[in-house]
Amino acid sequence: MLNIHSSVLEAMLEHAQADHPIEACGLLVGTVSGGKPLRVVPMRNASNSKDAFSFDSREYLGVWRELEASGDAVVAIYHSHTASQAYPSREDVLFAQDPNIHHVIVSTLPDASPAVRSFRVNQGVVVEESIRLISGGA
Ligand SMILES: [Zn+2]
Repeated sequence: MLNIHSSVLEAMLEHAQADHPIEACGLLVGTVSGGKPLRVVPMRNASNSKDAFSFDSREYLGVWRELEASGDAVVAIYHSHTASQAYPSREDVLFAQDPNIHHVIVSTLPDASPAVRSFRVNQGVVVEESIRLISGGA
């Protein structure tokens, strides 16, 4: 289960809407790996694509160093689907290497139902998990 503050969820949704129709991507960061995300780190989609995303390696390294220094951890990787439902693509499954990280997908399709879903991926096996919304800020 992914526990997420509504303010964090809203910041992620805003990023997805802002980058539409290009896929948005980024990280949800917290103090404990696999724990509660406390902030959104929007990343540039280096693929600049409507149906794929990749992190810019230099930007990712910078964030990684910042997390290393602050002691914070990547809780989730999020990205948007701008022309499909919020379910992992084949590429998404291949990309998901760490079974401890939540993979959150936001669909910006007007008829997406639901618009946000969270998954764990373990050696290619996709398991959806529930999202529990915590009201208020982080
Ligand atoms: Zn995807």
